[in-house]
Amino acid sequence: MSIQEPSNRYSVIREKNPREILLLRGSGCKWRRCTFCDYHLDFSRDEEANFHLNQAELAKVTGCFHRLEVINSGSFCDLDEKTLRLIREVCAEKRIRELHFECHWMHKDAIQAARDFFAEKGICLKIKMGVETFDEEFREKVLQKGIAAASPREIAKYADEVCLLFGLTGQTFTSMKSDIETGLSLFERICINVMVENSTKMKPDRDVIRIFAQNLYPVYIENERVDILMENTEFGVGDKYE
Ligand code: SF4
Repeated sequence: MSIQEPSNRYSVIREKNPREILLLRGSGCKWRRCTFCDYHLDFSRDEEANFHLNQAELAKVTGCFHRLEVINSGSFCDLDEKTLRLIREVCAEKRIRELHFECHWMHKDAIQAARDFFAEKGICLKIKMGVETFDEEFREKVLQKGIAAASPREIAKYADEVCLLFGLTGQTFTSMKSDIETGLSLFERICINVMVENSTKMKPDRDVIRIFAQNLYPVYIENERVDILMENTEFGVGDKYE
């Protein structure tokens, strides 16, 4: 993803789990160590500027599917309080009953309070966590994800949905299939992101991507509980890395 200001922050996903999606801006991911990631560069420490940007994007929400996904290149806790209140207000006004947020494991203890905050207005909060793989050693040593000591079941106590990252050297048909099956057995939905070129040193492995595209993509693409992003811009927000 580009490290400049994304050109598009609002989109509508019409296929699986139809929903509106917004890429808002927060104070930045507090983990920032994942070796494959550069999208945490979309942030600002200027809370007022973030709120104004987020307010303009939230004005685009129509409530057409009564579901909204809000991402912000980090965790929902990186959003300022005024933005969080406005998200709740807009959801209530547009009769949005399901709200999806991203959250890193380090903020797991903030999740229940957020669920309660939105539940006050009848909004069900779904938490999506970037797990990338359930292979703990690969996840922590290679990806530096920061979820050490958490078994899939422990993660499932906090997260409703997980993101998986495929297309990396070291991954195999068996490891990717196992990640998908574990994800489907413990979580409501999974989102598979295929690694793309970005400004980090981590490169997509074309052979691994081919194995995924030929053997696993056809099996899961019709599954309503599986989102597959062969390009990280397929939800219609953000930009390609150039
Ligand atoms: S937690 Fe998410 S935003 Fe933060 S560095 Fe990792 S992948 Fe990037």
